[in-house]
Amino acid sequence: MKLILLGPPGSGKGTLAEKLETKFHLTSISAGEVLREEVNKKTTLGKVIKKYIDRGHLVPDEFITQLILLEIKDKKNYILDGFPRTVEQAKAIAGLHLHTVIYLEIPLTAVVERLAGRMVCGKGTHNYHIIYLPPKKSGICDKDGSKLVQRKDDTPTIVKERFRVYTQKTAPVIKYYQQKGILKTVDASAAPKTVFAEALKILKR
Ligand code: AMP
Repeated sequence: MKLILLGPPGSGKGTLAEKLETKFHLTSISAGEVLREEVNKKTTLGKVIKKYIDRGHLVPDEFITQLILLEIKDKKNYILDGFPRTVEQAKAIAGLHLHTVIYLEIPLTAVVERLAGRMVCGKGTHNYHIIYLPPKKSGICDKDGSKLVQRKDDTPTIVKERFRVYTQKTAPVIKYYQQKGILKTVDASAAPKTVFAEALKILKR
C-alpha cells in the first residue's frame, strides 16, 4: 500500500504517519526528515538545503524528488509524509500506483498554536506538543530518550512564511489529487486519536 499525507505545517502528518506505520507495517518516509538528515551530514547539498529550510522555503523540486525516489526505490509499501508539496513533484511520481492521498484539513489559525508548542526529539523524528501531546517525562523523547527541542523553522516569522508557501505551492496539489479521484479529507483539528480513527475508516473502506 502506498499512501500520501498532505496538509499544512502542523496539521499532524508526522503524528498520523507514526500511527499508520505501526498499524499497517508500512515504512514512513518524511520528506522533511530526509532533508534534515542531509543537512546533518553537512554535505555540499546539505548546506544548500539548510538555507531553504531555515527560511521556510521549499527545497527545489529536483533535489527533493531525487532524494525521495532513492528512498522508495526498493519499497512497495510506504507512507510519504510531506511529499509531494508541489504539482511538479506530484507529476514526478505519477507512475506510482498510489492507494490513497489523505488530506489533513485544518484552518491555518489552528496550526499556529500547535506549532508554537511543538517539540521534536533530538533526531527530529518524534513529535510532541507541550499541551496536546506531552511526553511522559518532561523534555525527554518517550521513544529514544533524547532531549526535546523546538525546530528552528517553527518560530513565528518562519512559520508565517511556510504558510505562505503552502498556500501558493502545496494547495494546488490537493486539487491535483482530487481530480485523480484518490483524495480523502480528514478533519485534522480533532485530537490525534480521532484523526487516526478517521484515517482507518478511510483505509478500510
Ligand atoms: P517538514 O518537516 O515536513 O515540516 O518540512 C520541513 C521543511 O523541509 C519545509 O519547510 C521545507 O523547507 C522542506 N521540505 C519538506 N518537504 C519538502 C518538499 N516535498 N519539497 C520541498 N521542500 C520540502
